[in-house]
Amino acid sequence: MISLVIPLHNESRFFDTLIKDIKEALGEQQDELEIVVVDDGSKDDTWEAVQQADIGAIRLKGVRFSRNFGKEAAIYAGLSEANGNPVIVMDGDGQHPPSLLPEMLRKWQSGALVVEAVKSRRPLEPLWKKICTAFFYFIFRYATGLDLRASTDFKLLDRRVVDAYLELPERNRFFRGLTKWFNFPSAAILFEPAQRTTGETSWSLRHLVSFAWNSIVSFSVWPLRMLMAGGLAGIGASLLLLLQTLYCKFSGRAEPGFSTVIILQLLLGSAILFGLGVVGEYISKIYEEVKMRPLYVVLERFEKQAR
Ligand code: UDP
Ligand code: MG
Repeated sequence: MISLVIPLHNESRFFDTLIKDIKEALGEQQDELEIVVVDDGSKDDTWEAVQQADIGAIRLKGVRFSRNFGKEAAIYAGLSEANGNPVIVMDGDGQHPPSLLPEMLRKWQSGALVVEAVKSRRPLEPLWKKICTAFFYFIFRYATGLDLRASTDFKLLDRRVVDAYLELPERNRFFRGLTKWFNFPSAAILFEPAQRTTGETSWSLRHLVSFAWNSIVSFSVWPLRMLMAGGLAGIGASLLLLLQTLYCKFSGRAEPGFSTVIILQLLLGSAILFGLGVVGEYISKIYEEVKMRPLYVVLERFEKQAR
């Protein structure tokens, strides 16, 4: 059985078309298909659309969250509900074309445990979003050594990869990064992401920034290292300043020196504050891990197998 995991947040208008496209793409193979839909606390009638969808021979499983827990949680829930091998994760907004599914399955059959659909170009997006994503990927690559620029959440995973992913004990998850981190044999196929056909993206700027920051902090201690490097550089600079001040003093050209004191205070003060902020960020991550809260809470479930 093949499983398809689809996280949905306010995508009711698109669900029928999506199912139709999936059936079309898979042809005969749809008899072995299980779709796991995760309704991530949608405010529209996504849940009704899921229940009413014309699924033919497909097995449909729905999980509805009690509120919006975010895409990462939705993917995790979907993966843990999926029974098939392989499991394919795709967006429910039409930007991940189901027509790629047969090709992904072929790559899996020829031995890849992870097949990723890679963007040949970024979709038309507002300039601010392009700049922000470019900046995020640059920092992420610098901090972790993983290049995720063309990477997407549209992935096929072998059962072994899914189990490994579900077994990871951490709560702060970053699907795209973690599947790379495993370093299982993988293959890529190129595609041009379509425009969002209906509905709106659920990502606000605030969401994106917090997503980027979470991904980086849960993936590397690079900000902490930067802190230490900054501290070292600051000490170096202060030493130079100290030498210069001593030289001025002994050569009898000493200034009253108020400005130096004030500058030093400002500099060190802000460095310390910044450092505390970064440390606090990691402590908050530890706190979240230690709480052991569930990643999501299910409001209701639904299962349907036509015929
Ligand atoms: N999504 C979700 N929970 C959220 C935000 C998004 O499950 O809080 C789903 C959404 O329904 C879609 C996918 O994640 O299926 C990608 O979302 P979107 O298209 O808004 O993001 P983008 O394409 O910009 O990455
Ligand atoms: Mg999208």
